[in-house]
Amino acid sequence: MRLDRLELEGFRNYAVCQRADFDPRCNVICGENAQGKTNLLEAVVYLSCGRSPRARTDRELIGFHSTGARLEAGIFSRDRDFQIRAELRQGQRRRLWVNQVPAKTGAALSAVYSTVLFRPEDLFLIREGAAARRRFLDNALCQLRPRYAAALSGYTRAQEQKIRILRDSEERPGLLETLPEFNEQMIRHGAVLIHYRYQFARRLEEYAALHHRECSGGRETLTAAYQTVSTVEDPGADLSVLTDWLRRHMEEHQTAERTSRLCLSGPHKDDLLVSINGREAKQYASQGQTRTAALALKLAEREIYKNVLGEYPILLLDDVLSELDPRRQEFVLNRIAGGQVFITCCEEDRLPSLLGGKVLYVEDGVIG
Ligand code: ATP
Ligand code: MG
Repeated sequence: MRLDRLELEGFRNYAVCQRADFDPRCNVICGENAQGKTNLLEAVVYLSCGRSPRARTDRELIGFHSTGARLEAGIFSRDRDFQIRAELRQGQRRRLWVNQVPAKTGAALSAVYSTVLFRPEDLFLIREGAAARRRFLDNALCQLRPRYAAALSGYTRAQEQKIRILRDSEERPGLLETLPEFNEQMIRHGAVLIHYRYQFARRLEEYAALHHRECSGGRETLTAAYQTVSTVEDPGADLSVLTDWLRRHMEEHQTAERTSRLCLSGPHKDDLLVSINGREAKQYASQGQTRTAALALKLAEREIYKNVLGEYPILLLDDVLSELDPRRQEFVLNRIAGGQVFITCCEEDRLPSLLGGKVLYVEDGVIG
């Protein structure tokens, strides 16, 4: 899959309509700080799933002096051309189209093309709290599996209700009567989350271990183990079994949750435990090792997409290469062939000459 054309108007600092055509392989987006490089990648992600990787609301995406934003992409995927359009208006619902046909949700966009975004903060994925690794799993699985995306939003909705009920239960004990209903929803959706996370983690480990081994000159072995609630004896079990185990877990925590009035435990606390040579990387790995492990995981994510979708997703490297030493730069560059890639960098970088492909200059929201 590839992005052939992008048009932005009123989006972030792209105030005046900008249009760019891209190289099928490598595109280097060059410019000084705060000119619009990351904004451009953000638009590419938004059009691939209807969600921004950094904005909390669509409103943030509309230019400071604009009343609305328009984003359009020309995509080639599954041997066909697609046009994707998104329109955001202040105070109105956003509107999406695929080939001029209105699309209800971002899932319709994910069916057209996918992106894997790699940012400097992803290099700290191993060191961060479990939430960052869950986000990593969730982001990937939401793009790949519509059923997962539906389960995650169902789970989150039920969890929010549960949190509210527990919080308010002191003043309104009657609320607790509705708790079993939301627990049951969390169990049902939670089992789906566990099922997909486990399958994804297994494949992630398989590919990431290969990458990590190569990048460490064969000296290090990486493992990535999916961790979920204690009553789940085997996350690879059937959904019905997972549901039973989760129900047992809820029952065991019921009293503690009602006493503390907190939603204590569940798949919303899951983690991916990364180890290098048998030791937990979060605690023991050096800075270089954690970076290598993060690179290995992100490159593995791309391979999984390729396997599921039959085509490489579009890879977006936002300021990542300049954060790496030459050896790791080379490692990444040697492994990203085969799909389209967008790389941002600052102008003084030596990257453009290293990479080939098309170089686009961005200055104050204008693409040159
Ligand atoms: P860096 O090299 O520092 O990462 P960048 O080129 O990636 O810079 P962007 O993150 O794309 O920079 O941001 C470019 C500019 O867009 C920033 O000055 C930012 O303040 C501005 N900006 C962000 N949101 C909006 C918005 N809604 N409307 C207008 N401008 C915005
Ligand atoms: Mg940036």
